Amino acid sequence: MPRDPVCGMNVNEDRAAGRSEYRGRSYYFCSDRCKMEFDRTPDRYATPGETERRDDRTGRSGRTGDSS
Ligand SMILES: [Zn+2]
Repeated sequence: MPRDPVCGMNVNEDRAAGRSEYRGRSYYFCSDRCKMEFDRTPDRYATPGETERRDDRTGRSGRTGDSS
């Protein structure tokens, strides 16, 4: 079952309120609001792929230890 990348809940494809494609992947959303949020900043939510590793060639890590 696909997961809503915005809020993290599982979304049934048949019941998804919205769907977006980004970089060749499909994302399903529980509500229009989540879809809008995703469409606004897809980079923030899109995952590069479960099997893809992030080897850090750019020298920039997404984890800088920011604690809010
Ligand atoms: Zn959602």
